[in-house]
Amino acid sequence: MSDRQSDLVNSMPSSQIRKIFNAASLMTDVMHLELGDPDFATPPHVIEAAHRAARDGFTHYTATAGMPEALEAVALKFQRDNGIPCEPGNCVMSVGAVGALYSACMAVLNPGDEVIVTDPFWSNYSGQVAMARGKLISVPLKESLGFSPDLEELESKITPRTRMIIYNSPNNPSGGVLPKEVLMGIGELALKHNLIVLADEVYEKIIYDGNTHFSLGSVPDYRNHVITVNSCSKTYAMTGWRVGFATGPVDIVTAMVKVQETFSSCISAVVQKAAIAALTGPDDYVKEMVSVYVDRRDAILKRLDGIPGMKTVKPGGAFYVFPNIREYGMSSYDFATRLLQEARVAVVPGSGFGIYGEGHIRIAFSVANQVIGEALDRMASFVESL
Ligand code: PLP
Repeated sequence: MSDRQSDLVNSMPSSQIRKIFNAASLMTDVMHLELGDPDFATPPHVIEAAHRAARDGFTHYTATAGMPEALEAVALKFQRDNGIPCEPGNCVMSVGAVGALYSACMAVLNPGDEVIVTDPFWSNYSGQVAMARGKLISVPLKESLGFSPDLEELESKITPRTRMIIYNSPNNPSGGVLPKEVLMGIGELALKHNLIVLADEVYEKIIYDGNTHFSLGSVPDYRNHVITVNSCSKTYAMTGWRVGFATGPVDIVTAMVKVQETFSSCISAVVQKAAIAALTGPDDYVKEMVSVYVDRRDAILKRLDGIPGMKTVKPGGAFYVFPNIREYGMSSYDFATRLLQEARVAVVPGSGFGIYGEGHIRIAFSVANQVIGEALDRMASFVESL
């Protein structure tokens, strides 16, 4: 902290994921279960498309929202996979989903506006809402409801200052998948109170046990209130390419594009070409990846089940488990820090995901089975030593 930094930046908490990652990076022999970065390679046809694009001269600025064929591919994806009848004109290509989430907050919020978020949540939302001078209001995702919110409780948090609801399903960090009835309830509240819903769907394809993903933006009554955000990061193992996209009501998407102009002009042309290949190419790769995640999830759940005191809700999607560690009588930060120092296993304290994340740790299974096996051996010995 320095007096040359803005008050806004100084007021923003730093990410606990990064804190643990940075500490773990200075140590040797660490089992890394803290980052949500798939260990799979980007599909070869996507890499080839990027090579070809660079050779063919797609090395210039594009329109701020994206190149027409990329927006066409995104619109088709939203129609095909999500039932959202959008046009290229109400889509935008962004710097990862994070770019679209940021633009959406900046496009919609006025200073002092309240934003209801289902909590625990991906911590970047705090910074995004803070940058727009908004105020986050947490509504718990209840462990007893499989990490779903109680809609009456959610409605009770709505005030005249409420402008937006943010949810993420499948959810990081809990792995919970919101049932369709709950999503419809959120849509109904948005309609009743004239709110915008920011639906973060980046884990839509990483979903298990016959759960199906439902996009609120597909419902005609609610469509005019919903911004749907997605990206190539998790679905196609493309975190480092930084490509996301969104659709929503045309007035809001137009405002998001205006915001995007201020910080990125447009996204990389080569990367847009790669995204087109990902979105229009075969999806057997995604199916294989999901079946590997299921095996890993089941292996990890079996191991956690054998550790006394560890209580875990089976995740229905994403690649995280979020065990309850209250039984050990210490804060999630202390548990994660000691686990790292004493057992060389990096996980994220639940307190890094909002006020209702406390009492949990997040374990990412976006790593190989051998790493999971060794990490869980170490975790079991660590818990035994407590
Ligand atoms: N939304 C959620 C819930 C995430 O977990 C992440 C990344 O971990 C993102 C958005 C950001 O995705 P992207 O890499 O597309 O910016």
